[in-house]
Amino acid sequence: MKKRKASIILIVCTLLFTLTAQQLIPKPVTFGFRKTETRHIDVVVVHSTYNASGGDHWDLTKILSQFRRYGVAAHYIIDRSGTIYQLVDDTNIAYHAGKSKLPDGTSGINSRSLGIELINDTVEHPTEEQYVALTDLLVSLCTHYPMKHIVRHSDIAPGRKTDPWNTDWERVMRELSGRDIQPGITVKDR
Ligand SMILES: [Zn+2]
Repeated sequence: MKKRKASIILIVCTLLFTLTAQQLIPKPVTFGFRKTETRHIDVVVVHSTYNASGGDHWDLTKILSQFRRYGVAAHYIIDRSGTIYQLVDDTNIAYHAGKSKLPDGTSGINSRSLGIELINDTVEHPTEEQYVALTDLLVSLCTHYPMKHIVRHSDIAPGRKTDPWNTDWERVMRELSGRDIQPGITVKDR
């Protein structure tokens, strides 16, 4: 019975990864990260961002120009249609967390984490497509790395950061639990 359950989970994970892979578009940036050969990844930080330089808030090109100006980047960015762009390879350290601390008090989060940006502003909410893409991506990353923490930027930099804005975090956590990702994962507010 156990074996059967394990193989069903494996099939589901494979399907999900295939699904994610189809939506995932490489869009490498040249800024906002440091190259490394190997590193231990056990944290995911979810953010939100928008174009604040005039015009369409969802303009990816302008958002990336902002990142370049500030010398920051995340590994992934999810646009309003749920398309996931990979900006930085997982093995490299992206500058996305800033001054921050995990719930267990440890800092230096960039070096051990992956950053995911949802394109959203402080007024709107993430789209249904973004929720689906975010969940798929998180499940996929959890099957590849021994994740210990899935946190919001606001969880690790309270008082300094408030993103991801207007995001139903309970829903995201509920959907992850429903996908039966590994036990032992520590998720803020779970
Ligand atoms: Zn952030």
